Amino acid sequence: MKLHTKIALGLLLGALVGGFCNRFFGGAPWLSFVSDNVAYPVGQVFLRLLFMTVVPIVFTSIAIGVAGIGDMKTLGRLGGRTIGYFALSTLMAALIGLTLVNTIKPGSGLTAATRDDLMARFASNAEGLAAAGAPDFGISTFVNIVPRNPVAAAANMDMLALIFFSLIFGAALTMIPTEKARPVIAVLEGIGEAVIAIINMAMKLAPYGVFALIFVITSQFGWGILQQLSMYVVVVMAGLLLHATVGISFLVKVFGKMNPLKFWKAIEAPVITAFSTSSSMATLPTSIATAETELGVQPKIAGFVLPLGATMNMNGTSLFEGVTVLFLAQVFGVHLSIGSQVIVVVLSVLTAIGAAGVPGGSLPLMMLVMATVGVPPEGIAIVLGVDRILDMTRTTLNVAGDISASVYIDRVDREMEGLSPAVTAAEAAAG
Ligand code: ASP
Repeated sequence: MKLHTKIALGLLLGALVGGFCNRFFGGAPWLSFVSDNVAYPVGQVFLRLLFMTVVPIVFTSIAIGVAGIGDMKTLGRLGGRTIGYFALSTLMAALIGLTLVNTIKPGSGLTAATRDDLMARFASNAEGLAAAGAPDFGISTFVNIVPRNPVAAAANMDMLALIFFSLIFGAALTMIPTEKARPVIAVLEGIGEAVIAIINMAMKLAPYGVFALIFVITSQFGWGILQQLSMYVVVVMAGLLLHATVGISFLVKVFGKMNPLKFWKAIEAPVITAFSTSSSMATLPTSIATAETELGVQPKIAGFVLPLGATMNMNGTSLFEGVTVLFLAQVFGVHLSIGSQVIVVVLSVLTAIGAAGVPGGSLPLMMLVMATVGVPPEGIAIVLGVDRILDMTRTTLNVAGDISASVYIDRVDREMEGLSPAVTAAEAAAG
């Protein structure tokens, strides 16, 4: 059996067993015990094994990628297109979400009683988020991209700062004599390969880890809340589905010049990983491996585009934020003019760029958007109960968007270099 079939099976069984336990034994002390002391640690160990590889893989893959791209002019062109594609796909997603939420108006159907009930139940979670504090979005955000200390940036998982250092380091390698640069690159390549070997070991545990992660959620999840918020959940999911089938598929076809069906078939492994971990960062190693081996993306391109994407490109998140802010505005009867809605779109895109690729990474930033347009930020409590499920789905789109960007940039680079188009693993197998 193929590994990602096993992982998918783990996902399905975890959801079934967890759902069954919740239905028949929900609230039983033994169930929380098993969830807290068996499933939770197994899931977390698996996640940590993946997280553990993020810093070395981001540093080595970006430095090698940039050194491989070589001259700064090419890097500038590819980098510009990468950022442009991120902005375009994220904006597209936000607009799809906004159109749906304005048409269906899921918030007007929520009764005041349900609203107050949810507010009361999740108020403390919302307070926790508020206390953690939304990072301020001022000029210091930009200054902080340049790390004072790259080791501290890595230690704090401050991804933008780490990426900045890695880019500069890779560029510097092209500026020193080749005989000095070559051994450094060889060492980085060796480290990169060792990290991939660690990931392969971790992924052997994935079927169990994924089972555990999903079990923890479904065994404790109150399905009733899905009913209370059904229209909202449907709008978010429908938007994500629409952006996947129409938006990303269109971008893959037009920008990547690749058959979208082939694209979606090839990225099964990162899709399952993203869905079960709710983290773009934890999925990054799998995304890089899949782009290279399944889609034929050149390693220097995958190594450059995907770490940037996991940090900055979040299509699903921007769609989710737009829908959620408008949904909550409807719930609270706050009228948002066209001008305010434009602000919601712009801020959804910006905060999606700023959000960390970890479970719930966008929530504190979304509270900032709510506050800006006059929707009470503590109202986030209303949707917290279903956030994990929506996080799983939006992260999947975030990751698919990143990989689509690597297909596009790889196509551009191959054309600039006069290389033949990428060959996917499926095409290679078919001869
Ligand atoms: N969990 C998302 C990700 O890792 C971020 C978010 O929307 O909360 O991509």
